[in-house]
Order: sequence, then structure tokens, then C-alpha cells
Amino acid sequence: MPHISPLHHSVISAIAAGEVVERPAIIVKELIENSVDAGATSIVVNIEDGGKKTIEVSDNGTGMDPEDLILAWQRHTTSKIVAVEDLQSLHTYGFRGEALASMANAAKLTIRSRTSTQPHGWQLTISHGDQQKKNNAASATDSLEPIGMPLGTTVIVEELFARLPARRKFLKSAASEFTQILEIVTAAALSQPAIGFLLTHNQKTVLFLQPGQNQEDRFAGIVSQADQYHPVHAQNETSTVQLVAFFGTPQIARRTSPSQHVFINQRSVKVQWLPAWIKTQYGSLLEAKGHPAFTLFFTLPADQVDINIHPRKELAQFLEEDAIRELVHTAVQEFIRDNETAFQDPSSVDYAQNSSATSQVWRVRDSAANSGKESRVASELTHTLGKETSPWKMDDVAAQFQQLDHTYLVCTTPEGVLLIDQHAAHERILFEQFRQEYQTKISSLEQTVLKPLITFELGALEASQLRENLETFQRMGFELHDFGERQFHLTAVPAALEDRNPQKLILEVLDDIIMKRQLTKIDSLADRTLAYLACRSAVQAGDPLTPDQAKRLYEKLIQTSNNATCPHGRPTRITLTIQQLEKMFHRR
Ligand code: ADP
Ligand code: MG
Repeated sequence: MPHISPLHHSVISAIAAGEVVERPAIIVKELIENSVDAGATSIVVNIEDGGKKTIEVSDNGTGMDPEDLILAWQRHTTSKIVAVEDLQSLHTYGFRGEALASMANAAKLTIRSRTSTQPHGWQLTISHGDQQKKNNAASATDSLEPIGMPLGTTVIVEELFARLPARRKFLKSAASEFTQILEIVTAAALSQPAIGFLLTHNQKTVLFLQPGQNQEDRFAGIVSQADQYHPVHAQNETSTVQLVAFFGTPQIARRTSPSQHVFINQRSVKVQWLPAWIKTQYGSLLEAKGHPAFTLFFTLPADQVDINIHPRKELAQFLEEDAIRELVHTAVQEFIRDNETAFQDPSSVDYAQNSSATSQVWRVRDSAANSGKESRVASELTHTLGKETSPWKMDDVAAQFQQLDHTYLVCTTPEGVLLIDQHAAHERILFEQFRQEYQTKISSLEQTVLKPLITFELGALEASQLRENLETFQRMGFELHDFGERQFHLTAVPAALEDRNPQKLILEVLDDIIMKRQLTKIDSLADRTLAYLACRSAVQAGDPLTPDQAKRLYEKLIQTSNNATCPHGRPTRITLTIQQLEKMFHRR
């Protein structure tokens, strides 16, 4: 690596300067990128308390000699660019020379580094910008200490924002901060299959990936349900653009929070038009609300893409977008052509088929496509609502419920027209049931024992989230066992949910947790998980209900507390009163 020098002010003003370290995940990202830039083949990330206590990133890269070490943490010092022109042809992640400087300001920063020319390493500690105030390099030289260490660099960030209480307050729970770190490390590991990664949280191994992997092995080592993806290699006519794409089968498409990742020249980026474009290519293989899972790796000349680099959101634009659209189109077509026979009608296929064949218990239900969905909802409602002991009298409600747009239930009452959002209502019912169950401590929930049990492997991110929430799931009647690494065994499920695909349900709930879907007025972690579980278990908008099921749903709703809104805070029922109708019809 070339030696470090301060950037000329013309270069500084050409770089969009910004606050680099907002949260632990961003620090981790910057440190990993520095390690990659330094040619590391192995990166170890140790985190304590979601990074609020310690972030430590070690690599076996080139290291820095003492002269560079005292410059590294100063603002706008970098070894990566010298002149403005260099910005056009960057082959490194870093170039601003700001990351270590911001960390030195915001935390206690310790850097240890050793190059191959040094008999030992050197260590430097800067606390909350102290040295900067005292006027830098000279005082930093004083604080250089020799230290025994292998070749490479270790950066330790502690006491984050200890002197910036307003920003410290801004940090989320350790679990939540760690989730973001895990996403960052996962993305880095996906884009750098040749580099080995070890990630620990509070001394427990979360991710361990061997160096020297190819893209496919690395992908399989990280994502959940990797066997449900198929790789496609494609390139444009002139071979300047290479694409390695992993497309998920329609079976793992999700209604919300799909697993979609795009990397351009090994940077994790967003390309705004891509998700919709790929969905179009899947066509009728997906249900209308389904979003395909995919991970794409593009490699192309740096001047063919514009990446608006922001620590959190990297938005990319291809200069020749049409050509890229064509390339992606070809790739999806190839994927579909090669796998056509494997795809089945998405509404009748059960996810759990992906789990190992011996433990497969969930069948393809009602393969007659037209009856499939209705009967799923029907039996589910019988389970969750049908155990009614004293039937609610329909005194106030005239005639039957009608279903409108497969989403709303409509009936008349003496007061006016009653409208119910079937999903919101069911969600609230289940949430209250779940919460009661959860608080009872001694489970009274009926469970259905799975024979044979289900074994499944999750992605690293999902596995760590499931571990965090294991107790909540267990108290809800999921007999779940942690088999280490990313393996889990499921031996029983709540009887009320026995008709659902449990693996899919659990994955969806974990997704909600990871994406931190908005929930109003719910603070506790457990309640949040219960709310997600309720949401995922409830009938959806678009599910057909018979008048009888609709009636039972309403009966149950009025016996439920907090029944005016769903756990997300949306209304479950609205009445259009006679007075309002009179006004609308100008009778008053
Ligand atoms: P940038 O990466 O934008 O150059 P940083 O503040 O992240 O800015 O790092 C400043 C400089 O410190 C880098 O240009 C690099 O020379 C050096 N450096 C940082 N981390 C490492 C590392 N892990 N190994 C070797 N050199 C490093
Ligand atoms: Mg950097």
C-alpha cells in the first residue's frame, strides 16, 4: 500500500464530506473496507454489546508502519488517492481519509499495526479526539508503543459516543445494533468470497467463513434456503459486463421484505429499477403480491456506473441502463428455462419441502388449484376461531357478513354499516391470544407434535435473530431447539397454527424483526415478536372467507380486548353511521 499523505484541499472539497460514523454498523463497514483495501485474506470482527461497548476488527493485510500510523487517524489523510483525477478510477473502497478520523473523535480508538518490515507492531490510542485538540502528529508520536503482534492491523473502537451523550442516546438496543452489524458483515462476506470472515458477538461465534471460497460456496454458506436458488452466469456482447446471479425459486418469494441483494464491483448497492424489473420477468410464476428473492453480482468498468456513495445507502446508476436491463432479462429467462419443471403453482406449494427429505411433514395441500387457498384459510379459522364455547348472538347484526374485495367484511347494524378489515381484526385477535398465553407462563396452549420433526437451516442473520427470540417462540408453543451454527429442530407447533407451514411462518416473523417493521405502542421485545407472529399467522387481505368464517371472526373480535385497532395501530372496524349516510344523501 502506498504511504499516507494528507489530501490537497482541492481534493477535500471535491469529496462529499459527511459524518461517517453514525452507528456501530457503519464503523464496522468502514473498518472492514479498510481491511479489504489493505489486501487482507482474513478478517475477524469481535463485537461486544452490539458495538456499544467494543468493536474490534483485525486483519492480516499490509499493515501500516509507525510513520503512517500517526497519520492514519487524522482527517483527510489517505493512501488511496492523491489528485482529483484519481477519483474517476478508484479501485479501493476508501478514499476520503475520514473514517478513522471520525472514530478518533467519537470514541476511544486504538490502532495496532505491523508491516512486514517491522520486527514488531506499534500501538496508538486516541481518546475522543484528545490528540487532535493538542495538535496531532507530534503528540501522537509520543503515544506510539511497541507491541507484539502478527502482520496486519487491529482497530478497536470503545466508549462510542461516551462524550457525545445526545448521539449515544440515539443508539438502539445492543440486539438491534448487532443486527445491523450482521447485515454489514454478511454483505461484505458475500461480495468478498476469497476473504475468510469470523464474526463474534459477546464472545459467541455468529459467522465463520473459510477464505478462498468461490461465489457459489460463499453464497450457500450465508443465505437461508440456499438450495432454493439457482446460479446463472451472463455477460453482455462485448464481455465488458459480467453478471453472476442467484435467482430464488417462486417458492421462496415473499409478500413482504424479500431477500434481494445487488452488488456492483463488490459494493453492496441499490438499483432502483431492478426489483420491479426482475419481478416482471418472473411473470405468472409469482402470485400478484410476491417478490422474488435474488442476489446479483455485477462486474463492469468503474466508469460505466455511477455510485452515489453514502455510508448507509449506496444508490447506483448504470450508464447504459438498457443494456443492463437486457442482460438481466436474459439471465432471468435462462433461470426460468432451466428450472421450469421444478416450479409449481406457487399457491399450492409448501416451503417446508426445502427442509431435509426425511423430516418432511408438510404436504402440498389441496392441489386442485382453485380450492387450495380457500381451504387453507377455512381450516385455519376453524382452528383459531372455531373453538368457541358460547356462540355470540348476532342480535345486533342483521343478516350476513359479505366479503368485499376479499379484504373487508361488511354488514349492517342498527347504528349503520359496519366495515371490518379482516386482516387487522384477525391480527388483533391472535395478538391478544398470544400475549395472554405468553403472560400465563405455564403453557396452556395446545401443541401439535410434528412427526417426524422438521430440521432446518437458517441464514446467519436469521439464525442469530431466532436465537435472540427463542424463548418467545417456545412460550408460544413452538418446540424449537437450537442445534448450533445455523441449525434448528422443530418438534411441535401451536395447535392453532398446525395448518401453516411453520418454517415459512418463523422465517417471516424473523424477517419482520430484522426489518424492524413499524409497530405502534409496542415496546417490549417479546410483544413485538408476538405481534409479528400474529400478523404472519392472520388471514391476509385477499384471502377468501365464507360468510360463516366472517361471522366467527367478528364474534371473536368483539370478545377481544383492544379490539378497535390491530397491533400496528390500524383500525380493525369502522362504522358508517346512519347520520353520516343521511348527510351524504343530503337528507339532512
Ligand atoms: P480511507 O480509507 O478513506 O483512506 P481511513 O480513515 O479509513 O480513510 O483510513 C486512512 C488510511 O489509513 C488509509 O488510507 C490506509 O492507508 C490506512 N489504513 C486504515 N486501515 C488500515 C488497515 N486495516 N490496514 C492498513 N492500512 C490501513
Ligand atoms: Mg477507509
